[in-house]
Amino acid sequence: MSDTASRHRVLIVGGGAGGLELATGLGDTLGKRGTAEITLIDQNRTHVWKPKLHEIASGSMDMSAHEVDYLAQAHWHHFRFRIGEMTALDRERREVRVAPYLDDEGREVTPDRVFGYDTLVLALGSLSNDFGTPGVAAHALKLESKADAQRFHARMVNACIHAHAQTTPLRPEQLHVAIIGAGATGVELAAELHRTTREVVAFGLDRVDADKDIQVSLIEAADRVLPALPPRLSEATQELLRKLGVVVHTSAKVAEVRPAGVRLEDGRTLPAELVVWAAGVKAADFLKDIAGLETLRSNQIVVRPTLQTTRDENIFAIGDCAACAWPEANGGKGGLVPPRAQAAHQQASHVAAQIRRRLTGKPLKDYRYRDFGSLVSLGEFSTVGNMMGGLIGGSLMIEGAFARVMYVSLYKMHELALHGFLKVALDTLARLITRRTEPHVKLH
Ligand SMILES: Cc1cc2nc3c(=O)[nH]c(=O)nc-3n(C[C@H](O)[C@H](O)[C@H](O)COP(=O)(O)OP(=O)(O)OC[C@H]3O[C@@H](n4cnc5c(N)ncnc54)[C@H](O)[C@@H]3O)c2cc1C
Repeated sequence: MSDTASRHRVLIVGGGAGGLELATGLGDTLGKRGTAEITLIDQNRTHVWKPKLHEIASGSMDMSAHEVDYLAQAHWHHFRFRIGEMTALDRERREVRVAPYLDDEGREVTPDRVFGYDTLVLALGSLSNDFGTPGVAAHALKLESKADAQRFHARMVNACIHAHAQTTPLRPEQLHVAIIGAGATGVELAAELHRTTREVVAFGLDRVDADKDIQVSLIEAADRVLPALPPRLSEATQELLRKLGVVVHTSAKVAEVRPAGVRLEDGRTLPAELVVWAAGVKAADFLKDIAGLETLRSNQIVVRPTLQTTRDENIFAIGDCAACAWPEANGGKGGLVPPRAQAAHQQASHVAAQIRRRLTGKPLKDYRYRDFGSLVSLGEFSTVGNMMGGLIGGSLMIEGAFARVMYVSLYKMHELALHGFLKVALDTLARLITRRTEPHVKLH
């Protein structure tokens, strides 16, 4: 009892790309040695790496192979997991408040609780930002969680089954999917959907003509797809999407989402049965000025180069919810570290090392974002991206098999941080062996 009371309490809130890697890394070191008590809080019981959500949405992912159970992970890696949604922070008392956790039927599983800390790490991720666009909340789907992705998948499969059973001609919006936002998420979802909708139809829904009836459109306010990446990459991606049959609308600002489609600011209406909002990023609203911490309009928490928050050295913020300066961005003009999985991965490693330094009284080191480029998967069709780095002297466009290997390696790095080399190597081998025997698209 006295031993537990004297141990340094590290509390991590958010078990995503950054937070779960951090909890695992600290658990395997400080937790295992008994030097500190590591606790992870998340609002869900299981973790799925967010860049895989479009694969769940399109039905091409085998959930059992990629979902991590927090309680089991905590058991194997010497940290504690507590479920619940963080709602408030008391910096004076060093406490985080967590709402009651309810099951699917609305029964209370855990009550409203408070967790104390000596060091707090906020790793709460981000949400899409609809900028108050009318109709988005009521009529558009989002891709922010596993539940969102599964909801989209069920709607898509049901739409195909419904169209197949229908005796009257299809309505203009039927089997049309409009994806708003042609960043990496929108582009990847469009390419993945093109393939999987055809595979769903091939499961005996022969009265639907995939090429004629199914349409995927991508709507982007900027004048090109992937506006945050180099123009050459946008051109190559747009050409690949065109070959796939995805209809791309650029310089198209959405004025309103309606029950049967999207109205653009220029007056055009694009009929669509399913609308996905995949544009913009912000942190959760409850983080705005939370407990007096410095936040931006996007609700992201401003951090120092050490990743400690500007107004409280006992609180760190990492990943999408953190606003971390990146002086080298925009050709040296400066900007913020982008909300990417590679940033969350790097920051988790950095904060793990800084917490270890903190416990031994050593001064903390600054974090520097290393941009390895961006990769966008166009399903089985192709992968495109740019590679950054001193070795190649700037940005190099890559495409095809090499880009695919690089894309997969980002996820492998996450898996390695969670499970170690042996398990990842054996799982990868098992997946390669069983791949041929599994159907590609799942109708769960
Ligand atoms: C569809 C999609 C595709 C993407 N593709 C790529 C890609 O190809 N490459 C890339 O680099 N990046 C990609 N990203 C971005 C990448 O997923 C994020 O940058 C990354 O996941 C951020 O990591 P994080 O740890 O900050 O947050 P997350 O991974 O989002 O984790 C946040 C965690 O916090 C939990 N949480 C949130 N609020 C609360 C609360 N109040 N209380 C308790 N728990 C809470 C959530 O349940 C979640 O587990 C993609 C994102 C999406 C949505």
